[in-house]
Amino acid sequence: MGAKIKDNCIVSTCPDCEGALSNFEFQSGSVIRNEIHTYENTRFERILYLLARCGGCGRGGLAVIHDNGMVRNGILAGCGVRRDKPAWSRE
Ligand SMILES: [Zn+2]
Repeated sequence: MGAKIKDNCIVSTCPDCEGALSNFEFQSGSVIRNEIHTYENTRFERILYLLARCGGCGRGGLAVIHDNGMVRNGILAGCGVRRDKPAWSRE
């Protein structure tokens, strides 16, 4: 299963929790790039880079989300929690 956005977290498998499904809760660190662009044939107004932490073990991750002001309605481009994938790679 790929990672998904859920309310205030990303749901993804965590390599430090032996591959178990975990909630990566958003932390206070973020970068917002306001720029109208197209991603997967959809128009978006910004790209967010949000720090997230595994609720089970504390492992960090960087979520990259394209949205129009509401994170939960955005598209997750990557979450950077896997050892073999960079933050910008979709799982
Ligand atoms: Zn974990």
